[in-house]
Amino acid sequence: MPRRPTQAPTDPVGGIPSSGQMLPCPFCGSLEIWVNRDLDPKFVACKKCSAFGPTAPTVSKAIERWNKRAATPAVRSG
Ligand SMILES: [Zn+2]
Repeated sequence: MPRRPTQAPTDPVGGIPSSGQMLPCPFCGSLEIWVNRDLDPKFVACKKCSAFGPTAPTVSKAIERWNKRAATPAVRSG
């Protein structure tokens, strides 16, 4: 059986920010999120730690994928 991390996910204080539709960075929790709207493929990136989400053909899809990733806490093995 795989070991599960006992660490509880961080509880967001204010929930999803009303200023945007993007969830905070899943790696550093920053709300300084940048969206590549000009170049293909589209993707969402964190300004603070330079993490970027899955690429997508459209901005809305990229945001959707970013949010899905953000909803799943990053798991580090080891
Ligand atoms: Zn980040």
